Amino acid sequence: MARLESGDVSRREFLKLVGAGSAGLIASQLLPTDAFADERPNILVIVADDLGYADLGIQGCKDVPTPNIDSIGRNGVRFTNGYVPCPVCSPTRAGLQTGRYQQRFGHEFNPGNNPGPNFGLPLTEITIANRLKKAGYATGLVGKWHLGFAPEFHPLKRGYDEFFGFLGGAHSYFFKDPQPVNNAILRGTEPVTEDTYLTDAFAREAVAFIKKHAGHPFFLMLCFNAIHTPMQATEKYLRRFRHISDPKRQTMAAMLSAMDDAVGDVLNALRSANIYDNTLIFFISDNGGPTAANASRNDPLSGYKGQVLEGGIRVPFLMQWRKRIPAGKTYDYPVIALDIHPTCVAAAGIDLGRLGGKPLDGVDLLPYVTGKKNGPPHEHLFWRYGTQSAVRSGRWKLVRMQDGTRLFDLETDIAEQRDLYKERPSIAHELEQAFEKWNSQLIQPLWSGRPAAGTARAANRVARRQQRVRQRL
Ligand code: CA
Repeated sequence: MARLESGDVSRREFLKLVGAGSAGLIASQLLPTDAFADERPNILVIVADDLGYADLGIQGCKDVPTPNIDSIGRNGVRFTNGYVPCPVCSPTRAGLQTGRYQQRFGHEFNPGNNPGPNFGLPLTEITIANRLKKAGYATGLVGKWHLGFAPEFHPLKRGYDEFFGFLGGAHSYFFKDPQPVNNAILRGTEPVTEDTYLTDAFAREAVAFIKKHAGHPFFLMLCFNAIHTPMQATEKYLRRFRHISDPKRQTMAAMLSAMDDAVGDVLNALRSANIYDNTLIFFISDNGGPTAANASRNDPLSGYKGQVLEGGIRVPFLMQWRKRIPAGKTYDYPVIALDIHPTCVAAAGIDLGRLGGKPLDGVDLLPYVTGKKNGPPHEHLFWRYGTQSAVRSGRWKLVRMQDGTRLFDLETDIAEQRDLYKERPSIAHELEQAFEKWNSQLIQPLWSGRPAAGTARAANRVARRQQRVRQRL
């Protein structure tokens, strides 16, 4: 019984079935260890929507406390250079699900306002849930999907046993509001009436999933639509932020605080089930803050959602697994949301060298954060989003936007203000070559979407406007 993990209910139940004490011990020696609910971790991936780099207490936010989300970083790792593979929603989620650069399979853009039936995560790709389900995990997705509306793209067809949420994006937080076609709240495939503020409803569903599956390894993706527009909050949370005079920031604070409480409920559910320490948890945002639309902030970064400047692609990125990762770690080498797939799969005991399928671009982060591997996990990170592109290697980042190509030293210039393209031509050339090699492996986008206009001038204009708002607060 000594190896019995707290919360390992199935193993305990099994021993009860075969008899307590010596009979149980004999049975446990005779049977292969696979016969027990094993010690593999539960896995929880929490995704926020349009949350900026500076929108958490642990990231420097001063006016909106986020103690529950912060606790994930404080009890584990905070990645200071944590990226997403695209500055908008759907492509990032495609990369996260597959562990592969989404432009490899044409998922380069959001679907736009009139998505055709072909929009969806291509069926040639394998999701995290596909792999974990095959390994015996219970799999569930709560919240925003945004990876296809047609039946073949539904989460239940992409490796998830259970689904509660909506298939599109930009959902209202109140059910009474009219919704676009294809964006009903679904339980499985059935539309449901939902009277609860959506962030609270997602917390309720995530907690129920955890309670239901606590005795067996599970994988839960919890994809909040907070703090994406529409800007809607409940009185309970708006009252907490009466002191914030800017109405949009006040609503954003209320929405964010509701999400933080929701994360608190979910973490408490893990504690109550005695599985908190052996649950691998990620928290990320799907893209940088749009700033103007939802009063999010990306300080001290330049740019915003829709741009390959840091403000569009560098996000809050936290990881916790108390059983395996020491608390309070800060990790500075660049990592990317593509790493979440292989990290989860490897944590579940699946051999990454024998995966089959197409090669992953992400890497298992666990050996890096536990110190088994030194050096950067990635030699280069790449972005392509229509006419915008970027490549990062070490301290250097090359950025191509509509108003030209620039080179930045992010170690000394995190705000990407000083263009070194002409001063450091050999570095710029090396990055351009690396990008072209990667770019040659990509295919054309499968749908056109609606890429945001991206210029540095526009980014600076928004930054100045935000600065003025901040000074007034
Ligand atoms: Ca988003």
